[in-house]
Amino acid sequence: MAQDLYQAPDYYHLDDLLTDEHKLIRDAAREWIKREVTPIIEDVAQKAEFPKQIIDGLAKIGAFGSFIPEEYGGSGLDHISYGIIMQEIERGDSGVRSTASVQSSLVMYPIWKFGSEEQKQKYLPKLATGELMGCFGLTEPNHGSNPGGMETKYKDMGDHYLLNGAKLWISNSPFADIAVVWAKNEKGRVHGLIVERGMKGFSTPETHHKWSLRTSATGELIFDNVKIPKENLLPGKSGLGAPLMCLDSARYGIAWGAIGAAMDCYDAALRYAKERTQFGKPIAAFQLQQKKLTEMITEITKAQFLTWRLGVLRDEGRATSAQISMAKRNNVEMALNIARESRQILGAMGITGDYSIMRHMMNLESVITYEGTHDIHLLITGMDITGIPAFV
Ligand SMILES: Cc1cc2nc3c(=O)[nH]c(=O)nc-3n(C[C@H](O)[C@H](O)[C@H](O)COP(=O)(O)OP(=O)(O)OC[C@H]3O[C@@H](n4cnc5c(N)ncnc54)[C@H](O)[C@@H]3O)c2cc1C
Repeated sequence: MAQDLYQAPDYYHLDDLLTDEHKLIRDAAREWIKREVTPIIEDVAQKAEFPKQIIDGLAKIGAFGSFIPEEYGGSGLDHISYGIIMQEIERGDSGVRSTASVQSSLVMYPIWKFGSEEQKQKYLPKLATGELMGCFGLTEPNHGSNPGGMETKYKDMGDHYLLNGAKLWISNSPFADIAVVWAKNEKGRVHGLIVERGMKGFSTPETHHKWSLRTSATGELIFDNVKIPKENLLPGKSGLGAPLMCLDSARYGIAWGAIGAAMDCYDAALRYAKERTQFGKPIAAFQLQQKKLTEMITEITKAQFLTWRLGVLRDEGRATSAQISMAKRNNVEMALNIARESRQILGAMGITGDYSIMRHMMNLESVITYEGTHDIHLLITGMDITGIPAFV
């Protein structure tokens, strides 16, 4: 990949709304992405490999459980800090951000919120350093947007549980040491269970040939009469509301992350438009290209403010699931549109790996689908404002 010349757009001086600590966290993450991720990301994406060598660095910039209290190995930071870290990582690559989101919001968060004290002590400090990596199993072959229909089940066998079923499209599954798995008990109630690699009957085959999120390993979770120790059940909360709370945390991070991808595409397109000459002028001199660039920075600026405000509400404990849905939906669509427009500004160069734009564009096709599809988020907002659910 060409040299990383990234300069983050901040058209309305959003920086003035950040604390000094936010800016320090942001600058450290930004610098680390430039130094450690940019030089390798194109190559690992082309090879469809997860870059395990960056796990340690991700842990050091606070990408694993920044909001988890320090007593459990986290950084004890606020939600705006978490969002900023996700934004900077996704500026580098959505696949890398996916790994960090899963570890933080979908593995550490449920153990912190619903786990026993022993589970928190056993897993959280090692997840914070990346010594243990985790995954989150909710989606099944027959149940994506409708996880409540899940077929994965466990039975109480007296001294242990017996888990059977399968999960599909699970980020980090091929290398995860532990999986937070959502399954129904004999009464049909959803509970979270911690499944550890090495348990007999548990396998994690990788899903190959993705054109999107190629730096994030995706796979299945297969449970064939897996004996789960009783102490591995998350005792703090049951019902579908438990995994949905985890999704709120992850979707919040995605809302920030998508802005990072959009900012990277816009920055590359603006620089290219000023340098590339056609008909004796830089292409940035043509009105059609200015329209594209103007609309991009307008949409990025709107998304930055929407998301910063969402962060304030989340820090105050007031952000609703529907508000998070709106930001995830808006920002991912915004980023995808900007990636597509930026790709066009670069002409043929836009399809090469010399620039990050095509990779962002393909990555965002997954981001617009996972953690609730674009359409499902629209229906969540629709239900919130009308009081009428249109998706059941
Ligand atoms: C790369 C990747 C990584 C992922 N990582 C994880 C992970 O770590 N853990 C995990 O549990 N899951 C993960 N997922 C799964 C993801 O969350 C699901 O793909 C998503 O929820 C959609 O489910 P589905 O693909 O089965 O689509 P479906 O639910 O089959 O939907 C197909 C289409 O129908 C539409 N649709 C469905 N229901 C309705 C309705 N009621 N009204 C209107 N339209 C509707 C959808 O919007 C969509 O456009 C991942 C997916 C991808 C692609």
